[in-house]
Amino acid sequence: MAEVQMGETETFAFQAEINQLLSLIINTFYSNKEIFLRELISNSSDALDKIRFESLTDKSKLDAQPELFIRLVPDKANKTLSIIDSGIGMTKADLVNNLGTIARSGTKEFMEALQAGADVSMIGQFGVGFYSAYLIAEKVIVTTKHNDDEQYIWESQAGGSFTVTRDTSGEQLGRGTKITLFLKEDQLEYLEERRLKDLVKKHSEFISYPIYLWTEKTTEKEISDDEDEETKKEEEGEVEDVDEEKETNSKKKKVKEVSHEWQLINKQKPIWLRKPEEITKEEYASFYKSLTNDWEDHLAVKHFSVEGQLEFKAILFVPKRAPFDLFDTRKKMNNIKLYVRRVFIMDNCEELIPEYLGFVKGVVDSDDLPLNISRETLQQNKILKVIRKNLVKKCIEMFFEIAENKEDYNKFYEAFSKNLKLGIHEDSQNRAKLADLLRYHSTKSGDETTSLKDYVTRMKEGQKDIYYITGESKKAVENSPFLERLKKKGYEVLFMVDAIDEYAVGQLKEYDGKKLVSATKEGLKLEETEDEKKKREEKKAAFESLCKTMKDILGDKVEKVVVSDRIVDSPCCLVTGEYGWTANMERIMKAQALRDSSMSSYMSSKKTMEINPENGIMEELRKRAEADKTDKSVKDLVLLLFETALLTSGFSLDDPNTFAGRIHRMLKLGLNIDEDASEEDTEMPALEEDGNEESKMEEVD
Ligand code: ADP
Repeated sequence: MAEVQMGETETFAFQAEINQLLSLIINTFYSNKEIFLRELISNSSDALDKIRFESLTDKSKLDAQPELFIRLVPDKANKTLSIIDSGIGMTKADLVNNLGTIARSGTKEFMEALQAGADVSMIGQFGVGFYSAYLIAEKVIVTTKHNDDEQYIWESQAGGSFTVTRDTSGEQLGRGTKITLFLKEDQLEYLEERRLKDLVKKHSEFISYPIYLWTEKTTEKEISDDEDEETKKEEEGEVEDVDEEKETNSKKKKVKEVSHEWQLINKQKPIWLRKPEEITKEEYASFYKSLTNDWEDHLAVKHFSVEGQLEFKAILFVPKRAPFDLFDTRKKMNNIKLYVRRVFIMDNCEELIPEYLGFVKGVVDSDDLPLNISRETLQQNKILKVIRKNLVKKCIEMFFEIAENKEDYNKFYEAFSKNLKLGIHEDSQNRAKLADLLRYHSTKSGDETTSLKDYVTRMKEGQKDIYYITGESKKAVENSPFLERLKKKGYEVLFMVDAIDEYAVGQLKEYDGKKLVSATKEGLKLEETEDEKKKREEKKAAFESLCKTMKDILGDKVEKVVVSDRIVDSPCCLVTGEYGWTANMERIMKAQALRDSSMSSYMSSKKTMEINPENGIMEELRKRAEADKTDKSVKDLVLLLFETALLTSGFSLDDPNTFAGRIHRMLKLGLNIDEDASEEDTEMPALEEDGNEESKMEEVD
């Protein structure tokens, strides 16, 4: 490749969406412009993290500039503010791609958010923070040097294009990036030291690299003539220019000295190294925001250190809201940053925390891990396994702390209960503890929810199990026929109406030594007195032949027909096998497009019809069936009962038209409409049987 001697300027067009974003930033009025500094400092910090990480395995990467820093240089004469870092820098290709030609996925989303009224300060979350420079600058120049390339200059006044030129000016960065902002006339406040210091304190306090501000100091000094000569000598680098003012009315001269120096303006001692009792809530909040780009405060924080054989410090946060992509399976959520002895190692360390806790954000700083640990060696690392165990424990402790405040816990539960349930499903070690965090509505909880612990305190004498019903919504389950007998006995039933409850409860199985029993499955055994038992045995005998007749009519639709002891009012219901799917699970599985259909055939087919011998319809049916087994009205009624039971038991109808046809026929009977007189008849779906059973069916009501 031919060496380019003179800086040849190439012009590039901004990618269309970036261009739109730039005009939006430039032409819309935002009051919160100051956030540009936070964004640019944050980019510098990321760039420094990158070079530091590279240098862990190859020290020579730092050779061109051993010091890691961020510097701010306000220049009043030229009305520019420069942000300089000794980070990784950008190659020419990086410049072209990252700053203009390749749009991030967040570009469009951020514009939409802005137009929907979002605050411009959210820009960092969308990965387009750099462009916030144009909130206050009319022109931006980026000078950058990457170890693998020459020094380049990027320049743009927005307006659709930018240029990239090789830097032949002779000003050497060594390594890193300098961003020079040519401030708009009304934005000169960002040249004031005070303003810059305050901003760094407000938004960038937790940057772990030193941030220096180029400050100006004016001192007045009286000197004699011969001393004068000395002051003229510039102290190398430290003193940039010396002004002098001669006072004519005195022998001695008064000299105004203007000196410049780098002033360190951030503390950089990582907050997690400080004592928790010395950190205010506001400090945690601002650390949380700087860590996550969240615009709201955290909901809860846990700051702790583990000492002994293994040492580490950590701060964990629970956000107030779930992110919009919490369960996006394409994206592994993990928000714990790993540091080793204060050195940032990596974001999103998957090995640090299980998936179900992926919403917890924070930092971990280990004293024991090797600095040159790589993603590959992480998996086998024993230290990391111990850290992970501790983090999970602390997270759960933090959730219990949130639970002490009802309002906070409601917020937390609404946002993250699915994660807790996923935890119950996956984390067998902590299952019991997580179960204590569950909350459900129940037949007795009213508008509130109850914990399993509270449920247990309310259990009736003689009640051995914890009862629950699963379904689509509270409304769909609270009046279910399955609850009739349980309610009558005064037993509380939990409403599990989240799809994931089916999975969680399937793993949980018991709580506090008490079995969790589904009200809709086989195996619901309620204690009964000798009297009750005797009565039921009698009924069972009396209805045995009807059960058989019904099973014959229903055929494969049901596994068996039995006399129920769980329903009190309804004529019948359909229960599922103790180890098969519930109706609710069947519904959930049907809704999953990619389900394995072989699975559903054996998991969902076992329905048992339970009939209520106390119900008038059943009694009438029994009489008819006994009188004439082949009575067609019996068949029609049994099918209708089955279909209605499907609905009240939470299943869906495979063939709603046939069902509707049966209902219409009943309506006509009720309204005394002669079948042949109606024209609509022809449109009605054919019934499975036809016949002249009208007169007989009329009696059943
Ligand atoms: P984000 O920082 O969220 O990725 P930005 O729009 O702020 O998005 O920056 C775009 C990209 O430009 C960064 O990902 C990074 O690769 C590069 N970049 C920006 N500032 C710097 C810098 N100071 N040093 C090195 N690279 C930078």
